Amino acid sequence: MQRRKLLGSSASALTAAVSAGLLSSCTIRKQDAQSNTQTSIPKVRWRMATSWPISLDTIFGGAETISQRVETLSNGNFTIKPYAAGEIVPGLEVLDAVQAGSVECGHTASYYYKGKNPCFAFGTSVPFGLNAQQQNAWLYQAGGIEAMNKIFADFGVISFPAGNTGAQMGGWFKKKLDSLQSLKGLKMRIPGLGGEVMSQLGVNVQVLPGGEVYLALDRGTIDAAEWTGPYDDEKLGFAKAARFYYYPGWWEPGPTLNAIVNKKAWAKLPNEYKAMFNTACYEANMTMLSRYDNLNGSALQRLIKGGTILVPYDNKILEAATEASFQLYEDISGKDQSFKKFFQQWQIFRNQVYGWNKINEFSFSKHNYL
Ligand code: CA
Repeated sequence: MQRRKLLGSSASALTAAVSAGLLSSCTIRKQDAQSNTQTSIPKVRWRMATSWPISLDTIFGGAETISQRVETLSNGNFTIKPYAAGEIVPGLEVLDAVQAGSVECGHTASYYYKGKNPCFAFGTSVPFGLNAQQQNAWLYQAGGIEAMNKIFADFGVISFPAGNTGAQMGGWFKKKLDSLQSLKGLKMRIPGLGGEVMSQLGVNVQVLPGGEVYLALDRGTIDAAEWTGPYDDEKLGFAKAARFYYYPGWWEPGPTLNAIVNKKAWAKLPNEYKAMFNTACYEANMTMLSRYDNLNGSALQRLIKGGTILVPYDNKILEAATEASFQLYEDISGKDQSFKKFFQQWQIFRNQVYGWNKINEFSFSKHNYL
């Protein structure tokens, strides 16, 4: 209202000035644009807590992409400062901080919070779930964002896809797994529902933020650990603490990272800034995935040269893990009606996209044109 009045009065004054021959129409346009700028663009300063160490430039880069793009699009009027895990809050407490409003926004992985609601696992990745391309189709086109935001709404938070690592590796092990039995009693860092499946296969599951995994593995507090893939894992030094690098990361075929925003902070944001934030998250989603896909191949070669031994998961382990995963989804559905509804909708999409991708993407990759 105030803005309209201001624009109205400034336009009338300028019309009068032109009639009096005092200003050219060119000046009017310039001044009108200036008055528009001055009255409609507030300065907004946000803090973004993340779950990542700064050294992981790909994943922390997701937060930086959002920050940089929003700043550029708003001509420096809307700024978001990303903070590494532990700077404001611990890496696994980003949702709590955003919910409490102690920071306006965060960059994290929703599956860290599956203890609050098991559906949070699907916002990142679930065992034998969707790859990055399928995950994007579910989120953007098949109601995934809306389904996730129903869950986030209970925490006063709105979420945006804002990064993807691509299919991950299956973790670093100090000793080779001889059989399914070798998993029993093994201490492994693995979050999300993947951790629950591993637990059903006998693993003693630990959840640690990325910055703490290397020390635990090196000191032998844990026997195995997974993070993402060759580029990050090389940076975190896992190859110095364990020799056997398993694949595939069947619990994370295409994990999405999430930008989350406190709903009250979001409501105060001008529509233009909301659009900028949303656009920046799309960019982060694409940029992170393409960076990982570009960097992982050469990192894998370096690791192998350095003595890392690649090992495929034994089929018996994969079969047991598949069975345990879908049994887990059934078990949670039996106890939780809202999970059941969420899972059924997700599974309809999964079946459809797998049916299609078996014909196009997967049949092509099966031929392995090397
Ligand atoms: Ca992982």
